[in-house]
Amino acid sequence: MFFNRFLALGALLSLGAAQAVVPLPDDPACTAEDRRLIARTYELARESALKGNGGHGALLYKNGKILLEFASATQSTGDVTQHAETGLLALASRTLGLEALAGATLYTSEEPCMMCMGTVRAAGLHAFVYGTTSAQSHRVGGRPVPERWLECREVYERLGYPITIRGPLMEGDGLAVIAEHHARTQAAIK
Ligand SMILES: [Zn+2]
Repeated sequence: MFFNRFLALGALLSLGAAQAVVPLPDDPACTAEDRRLIARTYELARESALKGNGGHGALLYKNGKILLEFASATQSTGDVTQHAETGLLALASRTLGLEALAGATLYTSEEPCMMCMGTVRAAGLHAFVYGTTSAQSHRVGGRPVPERWLECREVYERLGYPITIRGPLMEGDGLAVIAEHHARTQAAIK
C-alpha cells in the first residue's frame, strides 16, 4: 500500500499527468529464493539512492551464498562505469577472480543497461535475475523510452550468447524505490 502510493506519486511526477505506471506481473519462472534476493537488491538500491547515487543494487549468488553485493555509485565516485552490475563485476573479477564467478547468478534490481549486459558477457556469467524492467523504470524516473527499445532477452539472443534470464520480479517494489528517488531529486532541483 505504502509502495503503491509512492508509485502513483512518482508516476504523476514523472509523467506530468495522471498516467499510472502499472507494475508488470512476476515472471512465473522466478523462485522463492529469487524473491528473497531481489528484495535484497532493492535494499541496496535504496541505500544507493539515499547516498545520491542512481538507486540500483546488485549481488552475486552461488551455491546458496551471496558472494558480493554492490550499490550503484556513479555520483559518489564520479565514475560512470559504477553501475550496480558493472561495479559489482569489476570488484568481483578483481577480488575473487573469474573462476570463482563461473556458475554464479547475478541478481540486479533493474534489467541491465547495454554497458552492464556487455559486462555480464565479459564476465562469462550465464544467468541473471532482474527486478524491474528498464523501460518501466525509465517511465517512473521521467526518462523517455525510445520506440525501438531493446530488452535484455533480445540483445543476448541477437548476440547468440546463451544465458538464463528471469524477471521482472516484484516490480512494484522496485519501481517504488525509483519513484521515491525521482521525487527526492525533483524536490532538490526546486
Ligand atoms: Zn548499467
